[in-house]
Amino acid sequence: MLVQRTLKRMVSMKGTGLHSGQPVTVQLVPAPAGNGIVFQRTDLEGQPVIPAAYDRVVDTRLCTTLGMGEVRVATIEHLMSALYGVGVDNVQVCVDGPEIPILDGSSQPWIQAILEAGTRRQQRCRRLMVVRRAVTVRDGDAWARFEPSSRFRISARVDYDHPLISRHLFTFDFSELDFVQKIASARTFAFKREVEALRSMGLALGGSLDNAIVVDDFSILNPDGLRFVDEFVRHKVLDAIGDVALAGEKLVGHLVLHRSGHALNNQLLHAVFADARNYRLVSTERQSALPAHGVELPEAQTGLPTAVGA
Ligand SMILES: [Zn+2]
Repeated sequence: MLVQRTLKRMVSMKGTGLHSGQPVTVQLVPAPAGNGIVFQRTDLEGQPVIPAAYDRVVDTRLCTTLGMGEVRVATIEHLMSALYGVGVDNVQVCVDGPEIPILDGSSQPWIQAILEAGTRRQQRCRRLMVVRRAVTVRDGDAWARFEPSSRFRISARVDYDHPLISRHLFTFDFSELDFVQKIASARTFAFKREVEALRSMGLALGGSLDNAIVVDDFSILNPDGLRFVDEFVRHKVLDAIGDVALAGEKLVGHLVLHRSGHALNNQLLHAVFADARNYRLVSTERQSALPAHGVELPEAQTGLPTAVGA
């Protein structure tokens, strides 16, 4: 049995919106079992809420943006990845602007704050979304596929026409401990020419070498270099976990990404949920209810017992 978790206490974080360049404050407020992750715009009339759900995604061009009516919350993916990564099921994300702050361009500051606050177990079981049939979505030579597996695994490939990034493949068997150690601190990256183009359109105004790896045609511009030699592809894994966390369930399946990004990741969830034969929702209440082909529920998937309080 895997039980849901929330935070032991509120977490507050201040930062800058990547695109607006404006200061923003986020509060992660503990929420009851079954609540899920919900975003709330505290700066707007009526303080509207948007559930963190794949079918509330309205824009995936530069980041993943949730929307309902006119209300938007952009750049949610690194926070979503952090919450999934350390097993926070229920939280109210109160934000006083249209964008979650970019912080250092990774999930690390969120992880640090969440682990400092600690998490607590709640009186309700988690549900698993077990992938039963392979589902693939494509866009040109990029594609994303979810296929059956006994655990949550992500294989990502990047393939850029660039000497530093060119081809990297990274396969990650999800566990909370490995997420913290191998994925959470991988930063977002950008090409210098793209950053300049975005700036000329009034975007990426909060972007700097403090919150992204920036590469020109031959080199990395950040004076301290990379955190991992394959930091680029690790960040793709980080982003993908944040994007598919919008399924709202714990995932059991192999996510295979080939040059995929936020748009394809979201299309993949739409494609999986479009046909009930593609997946099965399983309560973890009774092990006997789990699929016959076997689902691994090792301690590795249940958390960081020493770092995160019970
Ligand atoms: Zn990212």
